[in-house]
Amino acid sequence: MTLFLSLLIIVFLFKLWLSLRNTNCVESNRAEVPKAFAERFAVADHHKAQDYSLAKLRSRRLFMGFETLVLMFWTVGGGLALLDENIRTHLFATVSSNEILFGIYLALCFSAVNFLLDLPEEIYTTFSIEKRFGFNRTTIKTFISDHLKGIILGMVIGLPLFSFLIWAMLKVPYWWPWAFATLTLFQLFLMWIYPMLIAPLFNKFTPMPEGPTKEAVKKLLSENHFPYQGLYVMDASRRSTHGNAYFTGFGKSRRIVFYDTLLESLTPSEVVAVLAHEIAHFKYKHILKSLLISIISSALGMWLLWKVSTWSAFYHSFHITVESPAVVILLFSMIIPPFTFFLTPLFSWYSRKNEYEADRFAATAARAEDLISALVKMYRDNASTLTPDSLYALFYYSHPTAMDRIAFLQSLSSRPKY
Ligand SMILES: [Zn+2]
Repeated sequence: MTLFLSLLIIVFLFKLWLSLRNTNCVESNRAEVPKAFAERFAVADHHKAQDYSLAKLRSRRLFMGFETLVLMFWTVGGGLALLDENIRTHLFATVSSNEILFGIYLALCFSAVNFLLDLPEEIYTTFSIEKRFGFNRTTIKTFISDHLKGIILGMVIGLPLFSFLIWAMLKVPYWWPWAFATLTLFQLFLMWIYPMLIAPLFNKFTPMPEGPTKEAVKKLLSENHFPYQGLYVMDASRRSTHGNAYFTGFGKSRRIVFYDTLLESLTPSEVVAVLAHEIAHFKYKHILKSLLISIISSALGMWLLWKVSTWSAFYHSFHITVESPAVVILLFSMIIPPFTFFLTPLFSWYSRKNEYEADRFAATAARAEDLISALVKMYRDNASTLTPDSLYALFYYSHPTAMDRIAFLQSLSSRPKY
């Protein structure tokens, strides 16, 4: 327990230190547009990007402190033990003694409290920061209906899985490989139905309108023999003005989705450059590799849960008196993240490596100069800072920094192709 408490404090202090470093760096680079962007970025846009980054960092620091306190309360503070005991003695004893039902009660109460505790940050970010910088288009009505849908979806998907896991832990002697296999199959199933059943609950998808952009996109796709089922536009502008493009689905049922916000600001050749970058992620199997990494991690996680679930000292160190599958699953899900936190830079580095590969491909399949101008527009429209702290970026950034990325693309475009 002291080990976990010290770890929590170390992780918190480390995050705080990185965040302060970044704040410092963004602040001291606020006055002038960095030289490499001087011709492409207006001073006003630069100031907005810096201020937006600073506002986000400041609020994240505040809520991060709160989050750490909540985690301490649930774990070392005995909060989960208290909830567990209360449900067991009051609510549960009078109704039934089924462990699966007990688990569902516990998980529902636990998630309800966490949901309420997370709400202030979401409300503040959406309706204060995003609004102040002109990004937010979410109405209170959309906000509430999004959350209701999220809760229902979470229950429909989460509760059966959770019940299954409890059942397996109680009845199957060597349960972890079975539980892992079932969860993985279910995860793949979710990925398959996501574009057809889940995404449409939150957004409208319409076929991409005919025009020069669609023609250019189709040409790129056929040049690269890229199978897809359709080109769609998503009404991202309902919620915010941030832009993006992505793929969903597998193989021939794959859909290519553009945010309407992206199509509004990019020229056809810029859209092609962005799409070429995304195609590269498929061509080089980055998506598949990431999926494999996540499957391997979940196998490791399941094995660890199996080890921990029969370890009495684990329960005792968090004040739990009755050993049960439900309580160990919840505890485990809170204990693991502070341990894996220090792997973040490894995953970030891997992701950045893939981004460079994708950019290199885009520079040949499309034009580097188009990708540069598309990126500059996206940095500007999303008010991303051009000058993050190098250590902060090294730790968290899944993409190379604006400076590194543009320099890399420029080195490709100045190189003769033949
Ligand atoms: Zn990418």
